[in-house]
Amino acid sequence: MEEISGFELPGRKAEYLKIIGIMGGCARTNEIARRVGVAPSTATKTLLALADEGYLEHTPYRGVSLTTQGERYARFLLRRHRLLSLALSQFGLTPAEACREANMLEGRVSKDLVDRICASLGHPVQSVCGPIEHDLACCPDTG
Ligand SMILES: [Zn+2]
Ligand SMILES: [Zn+2]
Repeated sequence: MEEISGFELPGRKAEYLKIIGIMGGCARTNEIARRVGVAPSTATKTLLALADEGYLEHTPYRGVSLTTQGERYARFLLRRHRLLSLALSQFGLTPAEACREANMLEGRVSKDLVDRICASLGHPVQSVCGPIEHDLACCPDTG
């Protein structure tokens, strides 16, 4: 599979994938729309575009689920978000502030920078807003 750069998707689409990842990999359109804060018809358009690009599988009346490609990318997005939140929390931000600032900044953060943040923080497994999944390409195998 291709290397992830971190800039494959525009912020809005990445937000959808991240939310579906948080929801466990499959979700109903209405629930996704509610969490993103848009009308279901708007969510449907974006979800269909993500399905076209191979990130999601769309089942009429049931919702969407992540494909293998989508799951890999959603995991990266969650890891990026949580490492960034954790890094920001070290500047004195509360967990809620760090999470919110990370949401605004993460779209500009490359995979390479994510791995460097991870290493500089000692490959953490817990952020201020959720667990951080180890990336075998970055983190030492702790078995
Ligand atoms: Zn967060
Ligand atoms: Zn690491």
